Amino acid sequence: MTAADARNGTESELAKKRRARVIDRLLAAAHPDAKCELDYANPLELAVATILSAQCTDVRVNLTTPALFAKYRSAEDYAEANPEDVEAIIRPTGFYRNKAKSIIGLGKALAAHHGGTLPKSMEELVKLPGIGRKTANVIRGNAFGVPGITVDTHMIRLTNRLGLVSGKDPVKLEFQLQKLIEHREWTMFSHRIIFHGRRVCIARKPACGACTLAAQCPSFGEGPTDPAEAASLLRGDNIEELIKLAGITPTDESAGTSPKSGAAL
Ligand code: SF4
Repeated sequence: MTAADARNGTESELAKKRRARVIDRLLAAAHPDAKCELDYANPLELAVATILSAQCTDVRVNLTTPALFAKYRSAEDYAEANPEDVEAIIRPTGFYRNKAKSIIGLGKALAAHHGGTLPKSMEELVKLPGIGRKTANVIRGNAFGVPGITVDTHMIRLTNRLGLVSGKDPVKLEFQLQKLIEHREWTMFSHRIIFHGRRVCIARKPACGACTLAAQCPSFGEGPTDPAEAASLLRGDNIEELIKLAGITPTDESAGTSPKSGAAL
């Protein structure tokens, strides 16, 4: 059960499964606040927010949706919406013409075939405009409490770096990960990976030297391993806790932002 076996390609499936579950537990400790970062009050709002989040930050979506949700409260409201009115509101999220088309199409399909409410099944969800497996898993996991693995850009990057999967096909990855992670953990595992991808294992420069997963990760060293340099890359509002969990100690008297390795002291 070592990262070295994963790096050498000698890791058994059982060892990988055990390592995946250790990773999930470490992530749970590092990101106890992990959750869906989109604001919503019901399944329809979550579906709309998730459509808007394509190629856009959750923060920007959350700045945009209050006006949208205030104006359009039901699937029927979206079904009857003037595309230009919707586009004007959602423009800051980018790709606004396509997104408006998807949202209005979603409203029409829900009104026509589902009594105006979101269906729960994967099969029915993926037939709706603007909803693929990723969005369906977000809706099922967060609005309906049905465990689902959300394969977004963070999930693809991190699970490949962690040697849990190989490849970039989201559907194949989802099924590979389903075999490694306990069913009840699928939704929270997704949130934790996404949190870690936004705060620690950043795309351009992962903070390896300040990462709680370092001992479990065959890609350790892809980013800076120097604890101080790595810690300076951390993002979010629980940086001190992340530093502590990574086993490094702040030494900067001024702000505690310049850590060094406790092990090396
Ligand atoms: S050790 Fe580096 S590559 Fe591995 S998960 Fe942590 S930050 Fe990402």
